[in-house]
Parts: sequence; C-alpha cells; structure tokens
Amino acid sequence: MNITDPITIALTKGRILKETLPLLAKVGIEPSEDLDASRKLIVPTTLTNVHLVILRGSDVPTYVKHGAADIGIAGKDMLLEFGGEGIYEPLDLGIARCRLMTAGPRLSQTTQAPRRRIRVATKFLNIARAHYAEKGIHADLIKLYGSMELAPLMGLADEIVDIVDTGKTLEENGMVPLELIAEVSSRLIVNKASMRTRHASVRMLVDALEEAVGAQE
Ligand code: AMP
Repeated sequence: MNITDPITIALTKGRILKETLPLLAKVGIEPSEDLDASRKLIVPTTLTNVHLVILRGSDVPTYVKHGAADIGIAGKDMLLEFGGEGIYEPLDLGIARCRLMTAGPRLSQTTQAPRRRIRVATKFLNIARAHYAEKGIHADLIKLYGSMELAPLMGLADEIVDIVDTGKTLEENGMVPLELIAEVSSRLIVNKASMRTRHASVRMLVDALEEAVGAQE
C-alpha cells in the first residue's frame, strides 16, 4: 500500500489493540516493536509514513477531533460518552463487541417497585444522564473510575451503567443486567481536516481496512 502522506493512527491498549493488530497486519501495517514490551507511546510501523500512538481509550476521540491523530480506533462507548461530533466514523470494525447496559442487584428486582429517583454509579456520566432523562427517571449520578459492580453491593448506588460482555462479572457479584443502552464495537474514526488534506492516503487505508474486516466476517 502506497501511503504518501504522514498518517498517525491512535489506538488503545488492551482488547482493542489485541483485536486491531491482526486487521492492521492484513493491510501491511505492523508495529516495528513489540507493543506489549515497549513503553514507547509513538511507534513506527512497517509503512514509513504510518505511526501508531498508544493512548487511553477515552483520549482517542480527543486526539482525532483536534487532528493530533489523523485516524483512531475507539469503542462506540467512548464515542457516545466523550463526543463523536466533529469526527467521521466511516467504518465499524466489528471487534471488541460488548453492550452498554444498566444493571442492578438480583434481589431488588422482585422486591422493589420502580422508583422515580435512583442513585446510579458509573463512569459513563453523559450516557447515563441521557438514558435516565429519556425514561423520566431522576438519577443521582455517582462518578466511579472502576469496579462499578461493587457500588450496589456496598450500598453506594441502586443501579450501575457499565459494559457487559458475557455477564459473568455481574453474575458473580449478585447483579443482573436490566436495560440495553447501546451495542458497542470498535469504530474507525477520522479527523475531518485529514479526510480533506490527506484524502488519498486516508481513503486508501479506510478501504483496505474495510476489505480486511469483510474478509474476517
Ligand atoms: P463480562 O464479565 O464478560 O460481562 O465482562 C464485563 C467486564 O469486562 C466489564 O467490567 C468491562 O469493564 C469489561 N469489558 C468487557 N468487554 C469490554 C470491551 N469490549 N471494552 C471494554 N471493556 C470491556
């Protein structure tokens, strides 16, 4: 692939990186060093003009929005929470699939009538605010940075809004999934200016990745 413009791709460590690397390899992009072993945040690749930057998931949309990265790969949950406005989202990569859900303690489902006012623990404040507002429920939101499942057990919250994959984490903590808020998968996102000024290179990459995703399904 002949990428003639300098292109920076923002990625996040963990599940997204693990599932993205095989897709990038298919289009001829391989990091020039082992990302698990390396602490480098800017990593060259087998394509001279293409670099990877490794960020926190919640920072990927910000880097792409401001053009510090031309392209990014971010979970739909991050785009919903931190704003997908001002960036293109041309491709669903279909990887790192999970669901954004509300969940609550197993027992309370049968013993409690629906309440108009509840306490909700989550790291997805914007998503939770919109969800409960739409349902006409007054939710007092409590921001947490991890282990949301613990909050109802400890009496901190009545419900949580969190990522659910197999549901095992909920189950092991005596909770049940309640409502689906959104299906989540990783999306390819593109800075709007890059789409114009580096059009041929960006288009070539998006098309190649689209083909790689199609071949995988
Ligand atoms: P599970 O027990 O399989 O339902 O996994 C739930 C936990 O794994 C949650 O606490 C999430 O934080 C994490 N998780 C699962 N899938 C993803 C994903 N695609 N992206 C980010 N976090 C995930």
